[in-house]
Amino acid sequence: VMASFEAFIPVPASALHLEKNLEAGTRILEIIEAEPEVRQTTKPDPLPATHDIAFRNVSFSYPGSSVPVLDDISFRVKEGERIAIVGPSGAGKSTIASLLLGFYPPSSGTITSGGKAIERLDADLLRRSIATVSQETYLFADTIRQNLLLANPEATDDMLKAALSRAGLPHFRERLDTWAGQHGMQLSGGERQRLAITRAILQDAPVMLLDEATANLDRITEREVMEKLFRISGMKTLLSITHRLQDMDAFDRILVLEGGNIAESGSHEELMAAKGTYSAMWELQNRSRPALLE
Ligand code: ATP
Repeated sequence: VMASFEAFIPVPASALHLEKNLEAGTRILEIIEAEPEVRQTTKPDPLPATHDIAFRNVSFSYPGSSVPVLDDISFRVKEGERIAIVGPSGAGKSTIASLLLGFYPPSSGTITSGGKAIERLDADLLRRSIATVSQETYLFADTIRQNLLLANPEATDDMLKAALSRAGLPHFRERLDTWAGQHGMQLSGGERQRLAITRAILQDAPVMLLDEATANLDRITEREVMEKLFRISGMKTLLSITHRLQDMDAFDRILVLEGGNIAESGSHEELMAAKGTYSAMWELQNRSRPALLE
């Protein structure tokens, strides 16, 4: 397993510490040397050009806490792969998303995108390269148009309308000027999530990150929305964090996270055959569901 990650390490492990110290200086140089156009464009090309993601021996505790939330996690996601991250509540799934988006540095280990350590990438560019749909959709007190333009300030009304249709909100096409957010139009949980998906379409990023993106939808709507997300994601990399083990055979690989460790990894078929944690979770959710009250 280790060997397959070697290609992603730009320097020997012993030099990592030194590199960390040099990093601040390097970053300033990078900013000074950066092409001014790159910094001024509203939608710059994310760097680097490839988007393989790798976590290598990543451990993590939240600031001010000594409790390890992730414990020596290693995995690699190739461009275009569809990966599900599943596991019990509190296993550390959302923490993986936060680290990938660069909200916290790992306590140890490396996270790379396109072979580059993410802390060396412009945080804004990194986040633009990952379209995120989470359970909570934040809407600003503004029009639907403005709320959507956040994802792509250059989108025309036609682009907004096309994205709304694709996300399953065709009736919102005529409501771009309607006020949303605080004191705005009342939206259902499903409509809010579809707006988040509309944003993800408009962002047109190479990586799509779903964190319980369909959690507050009923199962039928969830299927519909997931189908749309899969269609939208096309050849893009898809990382989906989920509690619900539905349509899992649509993923190339499933990582089962337990207590901050990757307990199992494989396709739905492989994990079912392994009869471990995943298959037990799947059976519990999909088969032997006794009546709640008898
Ligand atoms: P769920 O399925 O319930 O969303 P999860 O697998 O996504 O859970 P995380 O949200 O990553 O789990 O949380 C992992 C652990 O980290 C939990 O014990 C949680 O209490 C803790 N944790 C999460 N966010 C923070 C934070 N901002 N500060 C401190 N601890 C946190």
